[in-house]
Amino acid sequence: MSTPTPTDPEVELTGGPVVQLPTVHGIFQAQAWHETTSGIEHLSVLVPVPEGSTPLVRVHSECLTGDVFGSYRCDCGEQLDYALAQIQQHGGAVVYLRGQEGRGIGLSNKLRAYALQEAGADTVEANEQLGLPVDARSYGAAAAILQELGFDKITLLSNNPVKAERLRALGIDVIGTQPAEVPSRAENLRYLQTKRDKMNHQLNLAESAQINGQLSNGQLA
Ligand SMILES: [Zn+2]
Repeated sequence: MSTPTPTDPEVELTGGPVVQLPTVHGIFQAQAWHETTSGIEHLSVLVPVPEGSTPLVRVHSECLTGDVFGSYRCDCGEQLDYALAQIQQHGGAVVYLRGQEGRGIGLSNKLRAYALQEAGADTVEANEQLGLPVDARSYGAAAAILQELGFDKITLLSNNPVKAERLRALGIDVIGTQPAEVPSRAENLRYLQTKRDKMNHQLNLAESAQINGQLSNGQLA
C-alpha cells in the first residue's frame, strides 16, 4: 500500500471493576475502560489463558448494524461471534473499541456511504465521494487496554495486516496472526472483495464460499 501507516496517539484510560459476563459463548470476565480525554468507553471480555500459552486477541471496532442487528452488509457480527467462540476455547480477549463505527466515520456517515454503495460505488469509493477517510480508526486505546490486561504478547485474530503493524508500533508484541474469516454471503461479497483488493485484507473468498456452498460459480466470476 502506498499510504504510510498512521501513528496512533497514546491513550490514557482507567479500568472499572472486573465482572462476570455469562453469554451464549460461555462466561467472560468483562471490564469497561474510560478514555480520559475523549470520554469514550470501551469494553474488554477476557477468558483466562492456560499456563504457557499466548493470549488470542481480537481487537474489534464497534459496528452497530453488524454486531447488534446482524447486518449482512459487512462481516463484523459474524467475525465477533467467531472471535468470542475462539477466545472461549483458547483463552485471551476481545477488546471492543467504541467510537470507531464505520471504520471511524460514524454511524450517519456509514449509512450515507451505504446509500452511495446502493448507487454503485464500492466501500472505498463511497468514502472518497463523501470526502471522508477510508479508514480513520485508531488503536491507541486497544494497546493501552491490552497492556493493562497484561497481554503485551499476543496472537491476533485478524485478516488485516495493518492492525498487527499498528499494535506493534504501540508496543504490543504480536507474535502471530490467526485468520478471522467467516463465510462470505451474496450480500457482503462485494464489500469483502473491496477489503481484499483495495485494503490488503487477507481473505480467501472463493474458497470459503465454495466450502459453504452459499454462492454459485456464476456469482464468483
Ligand atoms: Zn460492520
